[in-house]
Amino acid sequence: MSWFKRDKSDRPKTEHMERHVRTEGLWLKCEGCRQIMWKKDLEANLNVCTKCGAHLRIDAATRLKQLFDNGAYDEFDTGLVSSDPLGFVDSKPYRERLAMMRQTTNLNDAVISAAGALDGRSVHICAMDVKFIGGSMGAVVGEKITRAIERSIDRHMPLIIVSASGGARMQEGAVSLMQMAKISAALMRLDEARIPYISVLTDPTTGGVTASFAMLGDLNIAEPGALIGFAGPRVIEQTIRQKLPEGFQRSEFLLSHGMLDAVVPRPEMKGYLAHALRFFCD
Ligand SMILES: [Zn+2]
Repeated sequence: MSWFKRDKSDRPKTEHMERHVRTEGLWLKCEGCRQIMWKKDLEANLNVCTKCGAHLRIDAATRLKQLFDNGAYDEFDTGLVSSDPLGFVDSKPYRERLAMMRQTTNLNDAVISAAGALDGRSVHICAMDVKFIGGSMGAVVGEKITRAIERSIDRHMPLIIVSASGGARMQEGAVSLMQMAKISAALMRLDEARIPYISVLTDPTTGGVTASFAMLGDLNIAEPGALIGFAGPRVIEQTIRQKLPEGFQRSEFLLSHGMLDAVVPRPEMKGYLAHALRFFCD
């Protein structure tokens, strides 16, 4: 049995199409400082709050547009969709949940795999999207990322993965956990081929994604203030019977404890990546 299948209605590329329905108004409230801001101002600042610097979550397509030159990229494996290998039902059948998600997000699963130029250099970038079932990793995310790694090896192109994920997708049970091993093994082959991989961790990066590819980069860098961890703080506190320190599981805390290589503000991210790739490749 296959864990994913090809979507028969293979959608056309939506690169320049509006990807989401604009239901919100012209104003947004920052989750950090509760200030009301003009949405256009916020977008012009890459969705970083102009008042307090909070990095608001952005979707995968917006992320790719910010990183690729002229916002242009080609998408891969757009037709892969989950086959619901377990026939899983929680509060509603997984099959229905998938169908609803595909309709509301205009994505087929929680990652976009793309290629394009970053500061003139050809790169592969996989960007995850929390809007799609919490950015969880099932067979499709695992397969798309593995294929991106294999393409990077074939074409000798650096790889960047931008994580935003609640971890493994419970509706796919052990199949989702196996993606951790599959991606990690593919990353080892990428390493043996001496092709750089940069992991960018954004809010939130947790569970099986942190426990596999998000922490396996040649560089592991994060956006400011991102929640990064494996288990949630409550579970850890109950297990170790201790109060956790302030700022635990945020980017800055992880950097000061040696778990990250850098914390990079979003407006500097593209320049930082370009600089790092020059260092690795030239
Ligand atoms: Zn703010």
